[in-house]
Amino acid sequence: MCSGRVDLKFVLKAFLNGCDGILIGGCRLNECNYVTHGNYHALNMVILCKKLMEHIGLNPERLMIAFMSSADGFRFVEKVSELSNKVRELGPLGKNEGLDQNELKARLEEIIKLIPYIKLIKKEKLESRLENEEEYEGFFTNDEIEKLLNEVPSYYIDPDKCQACMICAKRCPVEAIVGGKNRIHVIDQEKCIKCGTCFEACPPRFGAVKAISGEPVPPPNPEKERTIVRKSKEK
Ligand code: SF4
Ligand code: SF4
Repeated sequence: MCSGRVDLKFVLKAFLNGCDGILIGGCRLNECNYVTHGNYHALNMVILCKKLMEHIGLNPERLMIAFMSSADGFRFVEKVSELSNKVRELGPLGKNEGLDQNELKARLEEIIKLIPYIKLIKKEKLESRLENEEEYEGFFTNDEIEKLLNEVPSYYIDPDKCQACMICAKRCPVEAIVGGKNRIHVIDQEKCIKCGTCFEACPPRFGAVKAISGEPVPPPNPEKERTIVRKSKEK
């Protein structure tokens, strides 16, 4: 219903599913019927997505956003033609970029996995309202994206601090935390989408979830060494 509802994930997944070009149509800026002005959110998302596309080697011109009202038939035709011509010129996704299908898929899947992290870190910017078109350019810079993606944290659980309270496992949105009653919890790095929820959720008195970036996470304890023996039970 609203262009603001078009999530970054929808766009990147559409490319992953074989779209060669994507046009997002939103209401004209400053003509939103609601206080939300979702079209600004869509615009910010598109500017960010174009930078992410550039970062993974895709031509950002394959993505377009255009603002129009339901009475702007000519503008709609113009924009659809513009994108169609661009896609015809570029050819199938990946071909013009010199990426084979496996590499293309791997790059898109990798960036899709990081969307919750990217949205969390860039939340404020994604929700802002740009005042004029001059601000579009440079709203997200290549350096900024490079830094963002170089600093992706990994989370792990310190086995000496985990008290098996199970809070993190219950809150993890992708069931990436393996644990149970009286079991030291472990993060499955393959499943983790780096949302940071477990980091926030682990009670400060335990402080067992750690964030690390730029180096690999310590390996988890072997399964048979994950049972917590409570002091009262030792006696
Ligand atoms: S950061 Fe924590 S809560 Fe988020 S996906 Fe990874 S393990 Fe789950
Ligand atoms: S919230 Fe912290 S203490 Fe509780 S199970 Fe998770 S890592 Fe362990």
